[in-house]
Amino acid sequence: MRNLIFQRMTSASPVALSTGIARALRRRCPSCGSRGILTHWLRLADRCPSCGLRPNRGEADHFLGGYVINLGLAEALAALLWVLLLTATWPEPSWALMQWSAAVLVIGMPVAMYPITRLAFLAIDLNVQPRRPGDFGDGDPTFK
Ligand SMILES: [Zn+2]
Repeated sequence: MRNLIFQRMTSASPVALSTGIARALRRRCPSCGSRGILTHWLRLADRCPSCGLRPNRGEADHFLGGYVINLGLAEALAALLWVLLLTATWPEPSWALMQWSAAVLVIGMPVAMYPITRLAFLAIDLNVQPRRPGDFGDGDPTFK
């Protein structure tokens, strides 16, 4: 098993950012493109079942990058959808509908986009800091 993980890690070429983002949009591992990196909508597996990549890359605060991207994109998209709803119902919008839709969008969009933004940040991070031995955890013989 250790040799298999090490062979996969050393033989795999770096992934282009566009490829990593495209894989993140499909909720797949940005490194190898396989399924199973998400165990739950809001939870990533400890490691990719295919390539062994640890999504947190050995850093306890790695989720913060995905969180920041999530907050920015999800709230911007929520605001855009709210404005579109407002303009679609103008000149007589239902203000009760506008209030409830704003609440649903502001709370729902970050939850809906969480796995995508978390994996997108992992793709960006893998592009900025190429894969290193520690990314594959204790299955990697070079892991310290
Ligand atoms: Zn993988």
